[in-house]
Amino acid sequence: MKAALSRLSLERPATLAHALRLLADSCRSERLTPIAGGTDLYVYLNAGSLTATRFFDLSGIPALRGLRVTPGGVLRMGALTTFRELGAHAKVAAGWPSLAAAARVIGAAQIQNRATVGGNVANASPAGDSLPVLLAHDALVRVASVRGEREIAFASLHTGYRRLALEPDELIVSFELPPAPRGAPAFFRKVGTRAAQSISKVVFAGLLHAGRASAPDLVRLAWGSVAPVPVRAAGAEAALLASPPSRAAAAAALAALDRDIAPIDDIRSDREYRSAVARNLLAQFLRTAHPGYSRG
Ligand SMILES: Cc1cc2nc3c(=O)[nH]c(=O)nc-3n(C[C@H](O)[C@H](O)[C@H](O)COP(=O)(O)OP(=O)(O)OC[C@H]3O[C@@H](n4cnc5c(N)ncnc54)[C@H](O)[C@@H]3O)c2cc1C
Repeated sequence: MKAALSRLSLERPATLAHALRLLADSCRSERLTPIAGGTDLYVYLNAGSLTATRFFDLSGIPALRGLRVTPGGVLRMGALTTFRELGAHAKVAAGWPSLAAAARVIGAAQIQNRATVGGNVANASPAGDSLPVLLAHDALVRVASVRGEREIAFASLHTGYRRLALEPDELIVSFELPPAPRGAPAFFRKVGTRAAQSISKVVFAGLLHAGRASAPDLVRLAWGSVAPVPVRAAGAEAALLASPPSRAAAAAALAALDRDIAPIDDIRSDREYRSAVARNLLAQFLRTAHPGYSRG
C-alpha cells in the first residue's frame, strides 16, 4: 500500500443521520471520503493516487440498503445494493433484465459480492457498467445531506469526467427505476478484452417499444466509454422515432450514431474501433428489438 495505514482514520456511523452530520462537519476541514464496498477506493489507495486520509464506512447504515419493487412497479434500491444482490434477484431479472445482465458481468464473483451500485455510480468512470443501464431506464437518484433530501435525474448526475452534481456534504441514498413499458425488449452488452474482470471498451443499454403506432413510441440508447460521461444517442433515437421499423430506419440511426458519440483513443482502444463496435451493438440491438429493422 502506497498510503501508510497509520495515517488513515476511519469512522463507522451506524445511522444515516450520524453519517450526514459527520460528513457535514468534515467539510470545514478535510472532507470524509465515503467507503461503500471499497473495490475502487482500495485500488486507488494501493496505487497511491488517492490523497485522502479521513474515511467513513457506509456499510453499517441500514437506510442505505434494501432492494424492492413498490406496489406501483418501481424498483427501489439502496445505494449499498451489491451487484451480487442485483444479479440474483428474480424481480430485477423479470422487470429490468439489462440491470441484472450488467450486474452479472461486473468484475467476477469476489467483486460482485462487495461492489455496490452507489459506488459504481459515484466513482463516475465513463466505463462504469451500471451507468448506461440506469440512464436507459430514466433512473432517479435520491441524495441526502443534513439539509434534507432531494432527487436528481440520472441524466443530470454526471456533469463531466468523474464529476457529479453532488454537493460535498451529500451522499447517494438510493435509486428508483420506473417500470419499463410492457413488451419493450431491454438489451445490455459490454465489450471488453474478456468476459470477466475487464474494463469496458464500449458498453451499451437499449430500450425500444414498438407500440401500436407505426413508429416506435419509446427509444432509449445509452452508452458508456464513448464520452467523458454516460450519454444517450439523441440523433439515433430521433431517427428511430421518426419512422416505422425498416432497414432504412436502422441505417439512418447508425449514421446518426456517428454524430452522437465521440469515443476517445486510450490504452484500451482507439476511436475507430470504439465507433465500429458501437455501430455493431446498435445494429444487433435493432435486429433483436423488432424484425422490421432487418427487412428492406
Ligand atoms: C478487479 C476489479 C474488477 C472490476 N470490474 C468492474 C467491471 O467489470 N465493471 C465496472 O463497472 N466496475 C468494475 N470495477 C470497479 C468497481 O468494482 C465498481 O466501480 C464498484 O461498483 C464500486 O463500488 P464500491 O461499493 O466498491 O465503491 P467504493 O470503492 O467504496 O467507492 C467508489 C467511489 O464512490 C464513492 N461512494 C461510494 N458510495 C457512495 C455513496 N453512497 N454516496 C456518495 N459517494 C459514494 C466513494 O467515496 C468513492 O469515491 C472493478 C474493480 C476491480 C478491483
